[in-house]
Amino acid sequence: MQGTRSLFVPGPTNVPEDVRKAIDVPMEDHRAPDLPAFTLPLFADLKKIFKTDTGRVFLFPASGTGGWEAAITNTLRPGDKVLASRFGQFSHLWIDLCQRHSLNVEIVDVDWGEGVPLDIYAERLKADKDHKIKAVLVTQNETATGVQSDVSGVRTALDDAGHPAMLYVDGVSSIASVDFRMDEWGVDLAVSGSQKGFMLPAGLAIMCASEKALEASKSAGLARCYFDFQDMIQTNDSGYFPYTPPMTLIRGLRCSVDRLLDEGLENVFARHHYLAEGVRKAADAWSLRLCAKEPKWYSDTVSAICLPDGYDSGELLARAYHRYGISLGAGLSKVAGRVFRIGHLGDMNEVMLLSALAGTEMALRDLGVPIVAGSGVAAAQEYYRGAANGYSDLLITRAAAE
Ligand SMILES: *Cc1c(COP(=O)(O)O)cnc(C)c1O
Repeated sequence: MQGTRSLFVPGPTNVPEDVRKAIDVPMEDHRAPDLPAFTLPLFADLKKIFKTDTGRVFLFPASGTGGWEAAITNTLRPGDKVLASRFGQFSHLWIDLCQRHSLNVEIVDVDWGEGVPLDIYAERLKADKDHKIKAVLVTQNETATGVQSDVSGVRTALDDAGHPAMLYVDGVSSIASVDFRMDEWGVDLAVSGSQKGFMLPAGLAIMCASEKALEASKSAGLARCYFDFQDMIQTNDSGYFPYTPPMTLIRGLRCSVDRLLDEGLENVFARHHYLAEGVRKAADAWSLRLCAKEPKWYSDTVSAICLPDGYDSGELLARAYHRYGISLGAGLSKVAGRVFRIGHLGDMNEVMLLSALAGTEMALRDLGVPIVAGSGVAAAQEYYRGAANGYSDLLITRAAAE
């Protein structure tokens, strides 16, 4: 096709031009004497993204799923009890991974469209007087349903119950896009991946472990080798890796971390909220419901939008892709066919998103979904023009400063 095919899936996200160029480097010696001068400051800056002083960052050659596995196998023993809630494909897959590692998962099933049930977590933790539960799992952003959960609320539930279980957060589609506070929220294991908020190709699990998690990793009983924290620590301490690291991705990561810190994390979060609000205004103008049931669950990185009965989101995606050259996210598993998703995270701005909304509108009309052409685009435009927010003032101030 002519022009660019546009990516509006919630990962992989668009890779900014400077990050792509940073990846395009000649192969290098990963045992070079000057490598630590590059890696040690990078690890230090990654801690700023996780908002931690006391935690330790790990980079594993893997996708987010590998990060889940590393978090679990480094800190738990076979048969350990894990409290987890399931409300979408990703929270489901993490539970599946725990079960395949012979953990005993106490599953709280929640309607898809809601998030982590704080009241139930609080009850279960209070009732667990013998502290059988060793780990509490939270999917901060359920990418399948566009639902964001309250991680700090889970920390409160743990503290109120005086419960020592460790807190594990899947932040693959939230960290570096929406607020995340490793230390303040007392998170013990945080998992992210390179291809979402970090704006890189897939291939790096980017994770962080608390001091408590590191202590547990000295004696945890699940089998691991490639993902062993202790092997990583031994070599990372001097700025190296225990095996050949994907240096091109790590060079790209340096660039993406610089971008995030230059923009300012709080501005990154404000931008994601602002972009997401425009998409929500569009869905509202189309009279289409979000999969997320209430505003408190709305995700600022991905919107899952429900089609009216009788329409197939698979057909919508195919139409959008073949006819208009845009990739939207599919409905997964339980919501397959009923939901389509617009990813609005990473290297994104309002005009890019308006093209996604315009393409979506045309594809919706082609399918016969009763929406008014231009209605969603207009609603988002009016929002972005700044009537209802201070974010456009911030953009103008920043542009003037550059
Ligand atoms: C993308 C994603 C993952 C991990 O997926 P990978 O394909 O292994 O990177 C895990 N959890 C969430 C919430 C995700 O969005």
